[in-house]
Amino acid sequence: MEKNLPGVYALDKIYTLQEFYGFLPNFISNKYIEADTDKFLDSYDPGKGIIIAKVPVSSAKDVDEAVGSAQEAFMKWSQLPVYERLQYLLRLRELLAQRRDEFGRILAQNVGKTTREGSMEVFRAIQSCDAALGAPHLMAMTRKFMNIVRAMPEIDMEVVREPLGVFAIITPFNFPIMIPMWFIPWAITLGNTVVVKPSEVDPVPTTVFIKLFKEAGYPEGVVNLIHGDASTVKHLIAHKDVVGVTFVGSTAVAEKLYEETAARGKRFLGQASAKNPIVLMPDAVTDQSIENIVGGFFDMAGQRCLAPGLLIMVGEAYDKFLNKILERTKRVRVGYQLLDNTDMGPVISAIAKKRIIDMVERAISQGDKIYIDGREYKPPEEYKGGFYLGPTVLETTPDTEMAQKEIFGPVMPIVRASNFDEAIEIVNSREYGNTAVIFTSSGKYAREFARRAVVGNVGINISVAQPDQFLPFPGRKKSFFGVLHGQVDAIDFFTDRKVIMQRWW
Ligand code: NAD
Repeated sequence: MEKNLPGVYALDKIYTLQEFYGFLPNFISNKYIEADTDKFLDSYDPGKGIIIAKVPVSSAKDVDEAVGSAQEAFMKWSQLPVYERLQYLLRLRELLAQRRDEFGRILAQNVGKTTREGSMEVFRAIQSCDAALGAPHLMAMTRKFMNIVRAMPEIDMEVVREPLGVFAIITPFNFPIMIPMWFIPWAITLGNTVVVKPSEVDPVPTTVFIKLFKEAGYPEGVVNLIHGDASTVKHLIAHKDVVGVTFVGSTAVAEKLYEETAARGKRFLGQASAKNPIVLMPDAVTDQSIENIVGGFFDMAGQRCLAPGLLIMVGEAYDKFLNKILERTKRVRVGYQLLDNTDMGPVISAIAKKRIIDMVERAISQGDKIYIDGREYKPPEEYKGGFYLGPTVLETTPDTEMAQKEIFGPVMPIVRASNFDEAIEIVNSREYGNTAVIFTSSGKYAREFARRAVVGNVGINISVAQPDQFLPFPGRKKSFFGVLHGQVDAIDFFTDRKVIMQRWW
């Protein structure tokens, strides 16, 4: 394969779907730059199983270059009047809104989500700009604390907040535009600069999108992107000028990076894996609940950190709802993600497909009862290379691997609980704590559930309980690492206090 075809710099002009995006460049100092490496990974259209880009594994030299650019930019950027920083953000928002559907399609192509899901992802990124427009105001409210504590009459004391420098933004495969945008607008509007390291599995949308920062007028070095894998992240985290890290991804990696950043005295915000139980009470409103639950499990082929991972049917709910859930699940239209009539696209990779099939096989061999077997799904000839699975529904018990581990695929494991207390016990005995959801018509159960569930987010008759971009995105137990959350806590995460004491003779 010719390395210079179609050429790393062609990305400057690309906004729409391509069959092949070439050898992806890094984006440093507002320029697409070839990585200094001979190691490339394949990135696929998972619905066709064909390679659409080659992803460089950036070297320590590339990391130095990206962080160096960000560090140099920080000196000037952090001193700019905040109005100027806001103008860039407004322009970025506008550019993103103009490209919403085009970027939605590129997301669909590379991640395997439907075009509707891709467009919604871009919409969320736009909302992150909206939310971060408030950052200077929030900071102004906490900026000064002057003269209230005065050691002596002639000495003034004030507390100011300052940006810190270069942040590394490390992101997972499932939302290549939205998740970087959870952090970038806040970090840079508050005066920091960033180096983004997207997932190596599907970094095309992030790479195409990142140039909007240049088009919006952001100075060189404020936002940089480097590609790579664990080895690249290692260099990035160890770099002396990286002051903090945001990470979204699996718990195994979050735990490791939490330790490594702590050992180096760096800030860390880590959003990690999940299991997300849904408790279905017998008094739930039938049609709306079933529609919402089935969509929650199978939209994006179950590859959302907030996707439900376990359905707990309480008492008579089992007899009342099971057949209806199975009927509705059979109507989920699996297919190529860019076609209009597709409800559920493929999973991200052949590896993910095998991992999910292996989990289902272990569950069956351990005695779980399978109601709908998604392994049997066969795509049309044209898409036979794609990484498809149909929806799977099976019944298990609370202590199995299926009921405890994150699946991150289109599988609905069902367990039964005899009453509400037993259901809460199952919810709280999972090792993760991203969300927990209840479907009920009872305000009493809903209220009690919201208080007793040990999770960061609670859904009441909402199967995918995603906080608005203005709110923190909390998580408990092995779903979150650190203390401060994104969004509203961003002021504390991306700035620090300084106390200035002064006397004038
Ligand atoms: P992942 O952990 O494999 O990868 C995430 C990032 O970490 C990627 O950029 C990857 O290159 C990097 N990475 C991978 N291994 C590494 C290592 N050993 N050392 C350093 N860096 C490493 O996650 P994924 O498969 O891309 O994403 C799926 C996971 O992300 C799921 O567990 C899901 O629940 C979680 N997720 C969580 C949230 C949330 O807000 N809690 C949101 C989205 C996804």
